[in-house]
Amino acid sequence: MKRTYIKDLGQSVGEGVSISGWVDVRRDQGKMVFMDIRDMSGKVQCVVLPSHAEALEQVKEVRTEWVLKVSGIVNKRPEKNIKQGVQNGDIELEITNIEVLSKAQELPFALDAELNFDTYLDYLPLTLRTERARDIFTMQASIVQAYRDSLVVQGFTEFEAPALVGGDAEGGAAAFKVDYYYDKTAFLATSPQFYKQIMVGPFERAFTVAKIFRAEKHATTRHLSEAVCMDFEMGFIEDEKEVMKVLENTIRHTVETVTKKHSDMFARFNTTPPLVPAEIPILTLKEAHDLLGVEHVDDMEPEHERNICEWAKKEKGSDFVFITRYPTKKRAFYTYEDKSEAPYSRGFDLLFRGLEINSGAQRIHNHDDLVAKMESRGLDPKKFSYYLQAFKYGMPPHGGCSTGLERMTARMLEIANVKEATAFPRDLNRIDNRLSE
Ligand code: ATP
Ligand code: MG
Repeated sequence: MKRTYIKDLGQSVGEGVSISGWVDVRRDQGKMVFMDIRDMSGKVQCVVLPSHAEALEQVKEVRTEWVLKVSGIVNKRPEKNIKQGVQNGDIELEITNIEVLSKAQELPFALDAELNFDTYLDYLPLTLRTERARDIFTMQASIVQAYRDSLVVQGFTEFEAPALVGGDAEGGAAAFKVDYYYDKTAFLATSPQFYKQIMVGPFERAFTVAKIFRAEKHATTRHLSEAVCMDFEMGFIEDEKEVMKVLENTIRHTVETVTKKHSDMFARFNTTPPLVPAEIPILTLKEAHDLLGVEHVDDMEPEHERNICEWAKKEKGSDFVFITRYPTKKRAFYTYEDKSEAPYSRGFDLLFRGLEINSGAQRIHNHDDLVAKMESRGLDPKKFSYYLQAFKYGMPPHGGCSTGLERMTARMLEIANVKEATAFPRDLNRIDNRLSE
């Protein structure tokens, strides 16, 4: 019999069907056995009645996470057993035959148990099957898709940035070393920055969804050793505001998309879709410090980021807020500074529900200015000769930005630790297994 997906069972009431999936839970009630079966489309309650002796014999051994192909009849539930608001809450599958596709060993814990986070990570091949984890990574997939769709509509072309690079060129973030051919050292990219700027050459507007690797020994709830960034770069801009506008469009489209697709998920995570007003508020760093009544320092402390987000929500009805005009010396060397605006740069950060999720800027596009800037920062332009070709051979005024996918996902569902918004997180203590083991 052809497989029916569990979400479609409601259309087959009174009919014989075949479904395949995992045993989510098993409950024995007297001589009857109840099982919730789960597939990619949802869950349904199934029952094996004493009248089906063969099925009852087959179900004897079956336990949680066994993979089954079962056939049976879809029945309407009696009125008193209907569960409102639950998928398939008004039907039940009466099982007539069971085929075991795969057995599972006894689980180390119940899948709906509250787990310590390290235990959750130790058992990811199992714990990723929980509804919570499936929600998080369904949300993440929708975010990436919406980001792509929005940029394509805005005229951007996607490209693949390399993960292996020849130098830890940027000098900003710490890089992991890789043994390359002929005793050469390569590095894992800390950012696709140079490559997306180069791609302004062929495309004017280019974007990438790239892996970045950062070797700083961070132990925070917002840092990973391997992360995904959604980056774009665009040519022929007047200033960084144009980049911020494209980002705002992308954010708005993403939030609208996930609000439509995943309203149930926001409820399960005890949160609501984020607020994106007609214009995301923009504050200079100074204005932000003044609003918070703190000293004019060169950066935002995590606590300031949280507090300024609370202000934006209360006063501007926005879960997002831009901070601009950071001192140039605090930003990457390629950040543009207009003479009239010195010592402040055309860089910006976007904060979302208390956390930086994006950094961007207008970049220096003049070759000689860029070389001078490298030298003033103690960087050797010779090491950047490959990248500098883009500027040697004509680069328009341009800018772009980078959004951390895991941070965006985590804030979307108000998950405290970005590692929970990463399917397979790598950090100071773990690559799949704990490093201490
Ligand atoms: P932070 O100051 O929070 O350490 P950053 O300013 O060094 O971050 P950027 O270089 O601006 O990070 O990277 C752009 C975006 O990529 C960040 O806004 C963030 O969303 C994401 N990102 C950067 N580093 C990490 C990391 N180690 N783990 C997770 N996400 C990261
Ligand atoms: Mg940043």
